[in-house]
Amino acid sequence: MHLTRILVASPHKPSSTRMPRVAFLGLGAIGAPMARHLAHPEYDLVVWNRTASRATEFVAANAGARALATPAEAARDRDIVITCLPVSSDVASLLDGPAGLLHAMESGSVLVDCTSGDPATSQRIAARLAERGVGFLDAPVSGGVTGAVQGALTVMVGGETALLARVRPVLECFGTRIVHCGDIGTGDALKAVNNAMLAMHIWGLAEGLVALEKAGVRSDIALDVINASSGRSNSSMNLFPERVLSRAFPRTFRLALLDKDVGIAAGIARDQRVASPLLQLTAELFRMAHDELGEAADHVEAVRVVERIGGAQIGVAAVAPNGATSA
Ligand code: NDP
Repeated sequence: MHLTRILVASPHKPSSTRMPRVAFLGLGAIGAPMARHLAHPEYDLVVWNRTASRATEFVAANAGARALATPAEAARDRDIVITCLPVSSDVASLLDGPAGLLHAMESGSVLVDCTSGDPATSQRIAARLAERGVGFLDAPVSGGVTGAVQGALTVMVGGETALLARVRPVLECFGTRIVHCGDIGTGDALKAVNNAMLAMHIWGLAEGLVALEKAGVRSDIALDVINASSGRSNSSMNLFPERVLSRAFPRTFRLALLDKDVGIAAGIARDQRVASPLLQLTAELFRMAHDELGEAADHVEAVRVVERIGGAQIGVAAVAPNGATSA
């Protein structure tokens, strides 16, 4: 774990070199492993989760953390509040009321939103916090649950560089690459476009492999060749061998969230008046897959929709130890 003493500005102690006190809100599939890296006595980590049992389980497994009952209780006296929720509107919904963040966060503190959010909502959240002297950074992450467990995420940050300098040591607890992207909302924008690329690779590769299966080329052979050729991607090198050929489809990143991300990217392209037929089509396809497979499905399960439409399964033929097809 990376622990660095940073300058903390607080109304009570204008400047000191104590460790920042951190709250983490949202202990979902990626939030929990991110927060785990902060469960260290020096950060005096407090956590909040909408479903309280998840916070209780987290605290039971992480001795350095305490669970509190509301966002306001968690945010009170904190230098840095980190959120990691499905969408930006969920973060906005935590601001108001007696249990809300606006009520509790002190002037000089910072909200770091690690949600893969949308730029416009992040800008509105930032403006509301600024009225109370609270800073805001959009800081979505990439690297998946594995990267979160390893503390090796990429963090894409939008907002003031001075604020980022203050929170960087905390972000470095779960991220190895912390990139300042520009003004508020630019981290969200970059994250959405990255995930739109992920969606395109998954869908395009699934179409290609289903077509090849029907044309008589086994998917494991096709992937071997593609992965040594110019068509390769993270999907072909990692996701398909580990999750599709094996038919394991572990649930680490919900399809609903990838649908949301592609929708954000498609919206950005429209707002910027960029001709983007491929992005718009990808958004349509992932909305359709999300509707068909539901809220719990993993993003890679979108392949199942391509297989259903195409009428063949990827990697259905098991390979015997001698390399012969057994089915
Ligand atoms: P999950 O669906 O696993 O968890 C969502 C978390 O948000 C849960 O703690 C849930 O609480 C909480 N939550 C949901 N709705 C609300 C609400 N209205 N108010 C308060 N809390 C709420 O999501 P992930 O952890 O996978 O994703 C979180 C963010 O990180 C998303 O924006 C996602 O796109 C992004 N992300 C995820 C990655 C992954 O691999 N999973 C990779 C990179 C980014 P409860 O327990 O009550 O349901």
